Amino acid sequence: MKFTILGGGLSALSLAYFLQNNNKIEKITILEKSDKAGGICRTYEEKGIQYDVGPHIIFSKDKEILDLMNSLLGENNEKHRRSNRIIHKKRFVQYPFENDLSKLPQEDIDYCVNAFLHNPYEDYEAKNMLQFFLKTFGEGITNTYLRPYNEKIWKFDPSFMDTQMVERIPKPPKEDILRSAKGETIDGYLHQLYFTYPKNGGTEALINAFISKLTAKVEIITDAEVKKVEKCINGFKILTAAGMYEAENLVSTMPVNELVKIYNSDSKTFDILNTAENLRFNSIAICIVNVKKDYAGDNYAFMIADKNVKFHRLSKLDFMGKGYHIDGTATYMAEITYRKNDLYDKASDDELIKDVIKGLEVIGFIDSSEDVNFTALKRFEYAYVIYDLNHRRNMDKIKDYFSKEKIYLNGRFGSFEYLNMDAIIRQSKNLAENIFVL
Ligand SMILES: Cc1cc2nc3c(=O)[nH]c(=O)nc-3n(C[C@H](O)[C@H](O)[C@H](O)COP(=O)(O)OP(=O)(O)OC[C@H]3O[C@@H](n4cnc5c(N)ncnc54)[C@H](O)[C@@H]3O)c2cc1C
Repeated sequence: MKFTILGGGLSALSLAYFLQNNNKIEKITILEKSDKAGGICRTYEEKGIQYDVGPHIIFSKDKEILDLMNSLLGENNEKHRRSNRIIHKKRFVQYPFENDLSKLPQEDIDYCVNAFLHNPYEDYEAKNMLQFFLKTFGEGITNTYLRPYNEKIWKFDPSFMDTQMVERIPKPPKEDILRSAKGETIDGYLHQLYFTYPKNGGTEALINAFISKLTAKVEIITDAEVKKVEKCINGFKILTAAGMYEAENLVSTMPVNELVKIYNSDSKTFDILNTAENLRFNSIAICIVNVKKDYAGDNYAFMIADKNVKFHRLSKLDFMGKGYHIDGTATYMAEITYRKNDLYDKASDDELIKDVIKGLEVIGFIDSSEDVNFTALKRFEYAYVIYDLNHRRNMDKIKDYFSKEKIYLNGRFGSFEYLNMDAIIRQSKNLAENIFVL
């Protein structure tokens, strides 16, 4: 039996890793658009500094998958304690925001605590993300941080997003909010309190570790953008930039909205095309800035809700260890999300870099652009799945369609779900174990 996988990111490589152990499978062919496998888990380099598409930290509640990732990395892996800060009016507030309220100016503390204790939204059913924030945290915490930050990262109004991402966030007990307002900082989201990161090579080290474990059964073909997929008697015909391939069994990890467009079948209706068109996602620009002075301290990531700063998150790469540091300097990665045709999409790379430098001045991380040694900017079209109010319904319809067509969907944009690396590997393992019974 032969398998073909469209796309060559973590979902494809981890699926091949699990599938190759199945004796019934003779060959697995991975068709990747770009010149290298890895997708969003690739790592790039600028003047000796290696960086990911947003630093990809390794953490999970799923012990089996976490153990697998850590064992694949072996010695090239280092444990870190999270040190994330929210920057609010130039003050560092420990993440998550509600656990460190005493760091805010007094009027903001009063607003957050009062609105939490006397919350008129408490007993309503939350039907969207904004309502969930108001019900769970009250108007003060919502308006001071959660709402502006979420608007900034999603570029989508939280009242048009569903609660899939947030519904598992627990409501903080009143005592915890009062303790946090009085100066007692409480660690939250404990499963991410410690994480690991490759000592060298960035997150692509994990990709390389998976590739090194693939047997001769697996072939990765790069520069093979899939341009057309057609159903035929024995399976599928796949036209790629590297030639024509035939597939007995097909898994797609490429963005499913793109797959719908290039899939040629009599069963494809206008409704399916239209549903795929309505799947929402964000792109991301990653800007590297190396500077002369270090005002960030021993902290790793900074979340910034202030709309005067264009990036939503800033990471200090030096935090990850010697492999990511140039002596006498600090290197930051700023992340700006955008959607097709919005102002950031239309802005030139130079304009975005200028915005990032201005943002660093606003938060006090540089005194002026004179402090900047070098910059680099890269854009990635597929970064975040947006759980808009129609996402679940749209994806159920598309999954149902491809399941009838006998095309398996896997991966972050392949299955169009907000999945981190651990969840991707789990999804691949489940698919590999169940592929013959689906
Ligand atoms: C900013 C950011 C930060 C993140 N941080 C973390 C983190 O800290 N920890 C964590 O666990 N996870 C993190 N993630 C999530 C992680 O990146 C993803 O879970 C993972 O990379 C998804 O892998 P994938 O294979 O599903 O998708 P992708 O990596 O997108 O792979 C899809 C592949 O398909 C290829 N492709 C597309 N179209 C075609 C075509 N027509 N023909 C052939 N090939 C095609 C693409 O080139 C790509 O290689 C982060 C993601 C982002 C965007």
